[in-house]
Amino acid sequence: MTVERVVVVGGGIGGLSLALGLQRRGIAVTVYERASELREIGAGIIMQPNGRNGLVDLGVDEAVAAVSSCPKVFHACDYATGEVLGERPNAGFAEMYGLPSLAVHRGDLHAVLLAAVRANDADAVHAGHEFVALDQDADGVTARFANGVSDTSPLVVGADGNGSAVRTEVFGGEPARFNGQVAFRALIPLDLVPPIVRERELGMHRGPGRYLLYYTLRGGELMNLIGCGQTDVWEQEGWSIPATTAQFLADYDDFAPHLLDLIRSVPDGELFKWGLYDRQPAPTWTSGRVAIMGDAAHPMTPFLGQGAAMAVEDAVVLARAIAGAGDVTEALDTFQSVRRERGNDVARWSWEEGRALQDPTIANKGAAGYGLLDYNPATVPLTIDRGTATSR
Ligand SMILES: Cc1cc2nc3c(=O)[nH]c(=O)nc-3n(C[C@H](O)[C@H](O)[C@H](O)COP(=O)(O)OP(=O)(O)OC[C@H]3O[C@@H](n4cnc5c(N)ncnc54)[C@H](O)[C@@H]3O)c2cc1C
Repeated sequence: MTVERVVVVGGGIGGLSLALGLQRRGIAVTVYERASELREIGAGIIMQPNGRNGLVDLGVDEAVAAVSSCPKVFHACDYATGEVLGERPNAGFAEMYGLPSLAVHRGDLHAVLLAAVRANDADAVHAGHEFVALDQDADGVTARFANGVSDTSPLVVGADGNGSAVRTEVFGGEPARFNGQVAFRALIPLDLVPPIVRERELGMHRGPGRYLLYYTLRGGELMNLIGCGQTDVWEQEGWSIPATTAQFLADYDDFAPHLLDLIRSVPDGELFKWGLYDRQPAPTWTSGRVAIMGDAAHPMTPFLGQGAAMAVEDAVVLARAIAGAGDVTEALDTFQSVRRERGNDVARWSWEEGRALQDPTIANKGAAGYGLLDYNPATVPLTIDRGTATSR
């Protein structure tokens, strides 16, 4: 019998993408999200051509592009002088891979996905539901939430991010840990930033032990600034922990003068810090009637700009696998066969790239250098590799 309904835990980028992919294939879906309110949090995300291929399949690529920026040139710059060392036109990505890369506010991407899911089914997404446990047998799987609600369905997908409670419940293992990296993040109105930064639109400055990256969002309305570096100091996880420009300036005081001016241009109260947490990619992504996907399966550091794209890729392949399968086992075996190696490799390569981004004496590859950008989750063949499939 085919899978008639799916429960998704986590209403982030991956969970909503899966919901949309299933709805578009005529499969009912219910999403349970821990946050009490689904609102705009986060800052900039890069959506490269492979992720955009997934958004095209979900029918939202145009809507996402309409709220994004499409930087003309990627500038690799010296951290101490600001001099441009290399340029890569975004049009080149469009020529090679069919679509250019976008820079989008995570809140805008999330809002587009949520609106599309709700347009299909106004009651599909339930906020204020924190997953706590599940049990499964041959007839179904029951997900339980902290507020006392439970839901039994043929299939549960954990899309609950890098601290995934579904992963811990079903697969055990170590919890997510602080990984020694702290990012400063700010969104700055464009008219406040130094002219050279405004003109360049996107600049990556690789320095010793740190890098500083800026790019425009919302068609140039905002400049997204991120400085990410190694630290011995333990930081809490979170997306909106306040930070001070004095601390940011002190940590990046050997960077070019216009970059220090950029830090000074952050409006009061608009600078946040973010301690990066992650855990090893999961060796197994499926068990019986349960699968994990996105950061829950392969926590992704931000260094390759692939976290959201990988969640979208997983979502599209899983939706296709569920729609095409005769039963849950076939669907999950297909999903794991097609996605596990790529997802887990990219998580590891992202760490490798992080080391290069924080050491200007070695070359960094970028997602193109790892051969990631020509992947299309909507057309990749769906086949079961019996050596990889483990959900039986
Ligand atoms: C608030 C927030 C802000 C972010 N901002 C940025 C950013 O600015 N730049 C960037 O590169 N990446 C950001 N990320 C990470 C980025 O969204 C992910 O790396 C990427 O999109 C992978 O998507 P995902 O769906 O696997 O995870 P996420 O998009 O992180 O979604 C996971 C979802 O699961 C929910 N959840 C967690 N635990 C439970 C539970 N027990 N029960 C129910 N629901 C649960 C979370 O609230 C979240 O909505 C952010 C993530 C979050 C949650």
